[in-house]
Amino acid sequence: MKLILLAIMLFVFAGCADNNDDQTTDEPEEITDNDENSDEIQDNDDEQDEADPIEESEPDYDQLKEIIIEEFEDATPTEWGENIDGVVTEIDTDDKVVSLTFDACDGTPDTYDEELIEFLIEEEIPATLFINAQWIEEHEEIFTDLAENPLFEIANHGHDHKPLSVTGESAYGITGTESPEEVFSEIYKNQQLITELTGETPDYFRSGTAYYDDVAVEIVKSLGLTAVNYNVLGDAGGTFDKNQIVSAFESAQEGSIFLFHMNEPDSDISDGVIEGVQMLKDQGYDFVQLGEYDEQLK
Ligand SMILES: [Zn+2]
Repeated sequence: MKLILLAIMLFVFAGCADNNDDQTTDEPEEITDNDENSDEIQDNDDEQDEADPIEESEPDYDQLKEIIIEEFEDATPTEWGENIDGVVTEIDTDDKVVSLTFDACDGTPDTYDEELIEFLIEEEIPATLFINAQWIEEHEEIFTDLAENPLFEIANHGHDHKPLSVTGESAYGITGTESPEEVFSEIYKNQQLITELTGETPDYFRSGTAYYDDVAVEIVKSLGLTAVNYNVLGDAGGTFDKNQIVSAFESAQEGSIFLFHMNEPDSDISDGVIEGVQMLKDQGYDFVQLGEYDEQLK
């Protein structure tokens, strides 16, 4: 049974990871072919006909969890860090574009940087927002408004905002997840929450603190997501002052991915971003969501 589910999952995810090939896969045709011969005869066999495809559709939460545990329980990580193999840090392009990414981390009250987001909206600056489940639960109406705005692409920033480890490694004093099962929950609970609230399934994941081990990165991939960090540290967790943030913008290059926060309204982030965005515009840069360059993320 597990092998069958794994095969189904691999098939489903192979499709997700390789959008260009989707049109050439024959899944729907195969199903039609089987039915064609017997269309007229099978009027009485409707029950059988309908049961098969439904059963093979998508594994549910518990089934997926079992698949992940089975596949990764014996894996030993060899890397730990922010920018390890398999984690995207830039766009491979000569186009004069940069991607601004904003994390929404904790779910305490008053953690929405409205000035920052209103600036992006007024200036029509597209961005990718990595949102943690606790932040969503505290700011649900704001979250759904942001998700409905086509300027913003919603990405997954974890359920409990933990570093992503299969062995309980920690970063910045925060203990990470401790097993493949916990890695799965950290990713997938928020994935489900976002999908329920927006009707869209995120393509990108960033762990709380942006730390991963290499096994956890493989689990992210197995769940159809891409782990994304950055190559320009925009605000250092909200600790940069305005001048430091503007300096970060000065290091922009074609394809840079910036990391900022949208949950620190009392910081200098909005002031720095307002000045930095204007500077890059003057230099001729455009701002893009990660999804616009999905094939060139590296
Ligand atoms: Zn965060």
